[in-house]
Amino acid sequence: MLNENLENLSNACGVTGREEEVRNLLIKLMKPYTDEVLIDTLENVIAIKRGKKSKPKIMLAAHMDEVGLMVKTITKEGFLQFSKMGGIDDRILLAQKVVVHTNKSSLQGIIGSKPPHIQKEQERKKVVTHDELFIDIGAENREDANKMGVRIGDPVSFDVKYTKLGKDLVTGKAFDDRVGCAIMIETLKQLTNTDCTICAVGTVQEEVGLRGATTATFGVDPDVGIALDVTVAGDVPGVKEFDTNVKMGKGPVLTVADSGLITHPKVLRLLLDAAEENKIDYQLETGLPGTTDAARISLTRQGVPSGTVSTATRYIHSPVGMLSLKDAENSVKLAVASIKKIQKQF
Ligand SMILES: [Zn+2]
Repeated sequence: MLNENLENLSNACGVTGREEEVRNLLIKLMKPYTDEVLIDTLENVIAIKRGKKSKPKIMLAAHMDEVGLMVKTITKEGFLQFSKMGGIDDRILLAQKVVVHTNKSSLQGIIGSKPPHIQKEQERKKVVTHDELFIDIGAENREDANKMGVRIGDPVSFDVKYTKLGKDLVTGKAFDDRVGCAIMIETLKQLTNTDCTICAVGTVQEEVGLRGATTATFGVDPDVGIALDVTVAGDVPGVKEFDTNVKMGKGPVLTVADSGLITHPKVLRLLLDAAEENKIDYQLETGLPGTTDAARISLTRQGVPSGTVSTATRYIHSPVGMLSLKDAENSVKLAVASIKKIQKQF
């Protein structure tokens, strides 16, 4: 179930600010387990599962958007130059297969650059930055590209399909944060007869500054917030333990502090107790430069005690990530166990 949902969510496209395909899928998948599904003005999805009591109200957040590109200019020769949407390393762009989402249809393309054969020695040593790259959709010229439906501002996603590797590893695009979406669905499914009320929110525009979470949290007005997201797995060559101690396959990751959030002590206690009482392996993490929707949830209105449950993922913000389904399943277990305990602690 989690595997199948993750596959469909990962293959769907939702470059930041253009999340509709993911939103429609998420609504379909959350509906059976919730009482009401709303879409707010910025187009966050809010699925409400009413408990026996209205309080505490828990907000789960998983962002629907993914990093990608946006068509910036169409050259007279018909090549598409682009800007980046979210944090993408220029070094991984060259020769990627991409999909340009126009109003009419989806067009395949590849990211090209000046061929290495005709680069000067000096040029070959340098990183080719994104402003020197272009998308080739096979258009003859600008008019042809326009006829194919391309307009400035069209979103562009990576053309990568979900694949299973080995026993419980999977690779695919946009695991940041489709795995959070898949975990959220499964958490709703497994929670029945709760006292508390749960608002499961699929947020928009996280990758460009946690924007969807800002307005969604104001509207939901929760008592506790938990973001379900990914974090960097450091178990690859070249990463020192001091950089990150988090490893794929070693359980959900609880953030103690990141650049936007110091996890509220009551929430951290709740997550730790739930993990320990249910014998769920977990990892603790601190000091990473990134942050999650929990940072914004925590600073809404008069403040909301918040924390994060993350899945250790290799190669995030690149066209293809890797994670362990076992970790994702344990994130579900941890979220479910924590919510069951929440009544007592909040
Ligand atoms: Zn994320």
